[in-house]
Amino acid sequence: MATFDYDLGIIGGGAAGLTAAAGGAQFGAKTLLIEKSEKLGGDCLHYGCVPSKTLIRTAGIWAVARRAREFGLPDLTLPPVDLGTVMDRVHSVIDKIQQHDSYERFCSIGTEVRFGQPTFVDDHVVELDGTGVSARSWIVATGSSPAVPPVKGLADVPFWTNETVWSQRTFPSRLLVLGGGPIGLELAQAFHRLGSRVTVVEFMDQILGPEDPDIAELLRGRLESEGLKILSSTKAVKAESSGSTIRLTVAPASGGAETQVIEADALLVATGRKPNVAAWGSRRLGLHIRPEVSPLICA
Ligand SMILES: Cc1cc2nc3c(=O)[nH]c(=O)nc-3n(C[C@H](O)[C@H](O)[C@H](O)COP(=O)(O)OP(=O)(O)OC[C@H]3O[C@@H](n4cnc5c(N)ncnc54)[C@H](O)[C@@H]3O)c2cc1C
Repeated sequence: MATFDYDLGIIGGGAAGLTAAAGGAQFGAKTLLIEKSEKLGGDCLHYGCVPSKTLIRTAGIWAVARRAREFGLPDLTLPPVDLGTVMDRVHSVIDKIQQHDSYERFCSIGTEVRFGQPTFVDDHVVELDGTGVSARSWIVATGSSPAVPPVKGLADVPFWTNETVWSQRTFPSRLLVLGGGPIGLELAQAFHRLGSRVTVVEFMDQILGPEDPDIAELLRGRLESEGLKILSSTKAVKAESSGSTIRLTVAPASGGAETQVIEADALLVATGRKPNVAAWGSRRLGLHIRPEVSPLICA
């Protein structure tokens, strides 16, 4: 019978990989977790759920403070928000939760953790730092990254994604959000509540992508009543910047000729996700991955 270094190998130390690693180790499997970045936790901890829910909480408090009079309190004159201080808090929350997703914690529950970027050599062996590591079974949990649409000029414009927004320190008076899905909308609402004038540009007729139309309509009404501007059925055709101003030319998604130019101080691109499949050697295993579908399709 073939022998392997590990019963279970996991590539990717995000929410999925960590859950699998904890489960594997606790069921007594000899488990190896390999993560390419310096810290465990993946998108959820560093660029997703945790920072966004922290920002939403901060923005929610600011929005309630603005409504002080409704609660029988004197009107409050709120000063401008210092984005650097807001982001410092976001990072302090990440740091706190990092202890639960740490190298030390996972080692203490019996998972071996290594940092690096492995490549499959065959079905059971990956190469890591120049040596082969084998496992009876592997789980690939390498997650996804922001997908940036092929809009003319966009590559030359400084834009944010869910990975870079958390390191911003200058508050944008005007924020343009490309993409009316959950990531774009939650950040749009948070920045609006903190004081930005926010415009969301969405290609589809409804926001929230394939979500139930009634829910999408309800949310849209709510966001618009708060003051967000949402341009649906609208596509971005050209991006430019001069000085600190970003200009996005948009047109009807249906193909109509009339365009308008929206100016902003910052642009957040939240137009979907692409799977992280290039680095670990999916081709060598004979896998073709259709990014628009995500599930693995064997060749
Ligand atoms: C702004 C935002 C808000 C979100 N809010 C929520 C929320 O409120 N609730 C919720 O349930 N979900 C939320 N999500 C979604 C959630 O973050 C993801 O569903 C979750 O992170 C997916 O986990 P994962 O383990 O599949 O991938 P990831 O978290 O992306 O983890 C993948 C890991 O694999 C590593 N990796 C990648 N390639 C390699 C490689 N070649 N070798 C080794 N390691 C590699 C990466 O560095 C990363 O650590 C949000 C996402 C975003 C962007």
